[in-house]
Amino acid sequence: MKSFIYASQPSRVVFHAGALDQLGAEIDRLGARRALVLSTPEQRASAEDVSRRLGSRSAGVYDRAVMHVPIETAQAARARAKELNADCCVAIGGGSTIGLGKAIALTSELPILAIPTTFAGSEMTPIFGITEQGQKKTGRDPRVLPRTVIYDPLLTMSLPVNIAGSSGMNAIAHCVEALYAQDSNPITSLMAEEGIRALSSSLPTVVSKPDDLEARAEALYGAWLAGACLGNVGMALHHKLCHTVGGAFNLPHAETHAVILPHAVHYNFEAAPDAMARIGRALAGSGLSADGAASGLFALARKLGVPLALRDLGMKMESLDEAARLAMQNPYYNPRPLEYAAIRQLLQNAWEGKSPG
Ligand code: NAD
Repeated sequence: MKSFIYASQPSRVVFHAGALDQLGAEIDRLGARRALVLSTPEQRASAEDVSRRLGSRSAGVYDRAVMHVPIETAQAARARAKELNADCCVAIGGGSTIGLGKAIALTSELPILAIPTTFAGSEMTPIFGITEQGQKKTGRDPRVLPRTVIYDPLLTMSLPVNIAGSSGMNAIAHCVEALYAQDSNPITSLMAEEGIRALSSSLPTVVSKPDDLEARAEALYGAWLAGACLGNVGMALHHKLCHTVGGAFNLPHAETHAVILPHAVHYNFEAAPDAMARIGRALAGSGLSADGAASGLFALARKLGVPLALRDLGMKMESLDEAARLAMQNPYYNPRPLEYAAIRQLLQNAWEGKSPG
């Protein structure tokens, strides 16, 4: 018998090629008059375009977003928002830029309008992360959930294929863990399975034909579903490993997800048969699941040309014992109990870039 709790996250999503043209109307809908536009230094030109489109409703551009939201960056951005008397943040970029918007919203309650340009999914979640003295602390707070999200596939056309591939694997990881989440529910599971299908069927084309707008739009649709999954249910071993190991050894976020995912799925394979069947079904349309969910995901990673080994991300073999110990700390839900030796082996396989299993 089914038994579940489902809480939807209140956000408005506008999705279509050219949706950026709706920006003015969406800002008006929020009742904002002085929006601070956020970006990374690399995406300054996009932020300036947004600022131009906003005209007198733009309070200015702040282009200092960097990976993992260092507290110093968050504080400087908060001060800038205050100084400019901003009443809203428009974040254009990936998880790093949207994360900076969340850090501002956390203390000021300014609404966020997010314009995601990667597949990471942060725009759909009430999860924030701030890094202080080398430690990234995450939390959930409804104030940081973007009120409006504009998904415009045209904005992903400039995303280099290597970032697109690993960012897409990051999105698939949200869907995968949603399927065996402790608080999984039928709606989120539908979104998760459809998200894996959309991403795994489109990402290979995104990589092989970078100008294919339809493939990018399908991947962005999958990323929306993935973000909604992450925002709705708790995650497990895979996200814990990426967070602790990635944080402790300063590994790049999306690539770490891409490397670890098939191995985490292999670890949980026997303990979550329904989830594994759904992952297999979602991958089947792309001909990826012949040998099961874990090898299907490994085959997808291979096809996308993303890194397959932690050693290629700069991790040292001597660090694997400590990484396994870190993964055992602060117990958390996982369908299979955490076993040090098996997690150490998982990390060894991921470090070597071996096919799981
Ligand atoms: P990112 O935001 O760090 O972007 C990576 C690089 O790609 C940046 O230089 C960025 O400017 C560039 N870029 C982004 N979109 C581009 C485009 N369309 N064209 C050209 N360049 C583009 O990468 P990410 O993977 O999106 O985000 C990673 C961060 O997000 C991590 O810190 C992670 O922890 C966080 N995250 C948070 C959540 C959440 O719910 N809180 C969810 C997922 C990720």
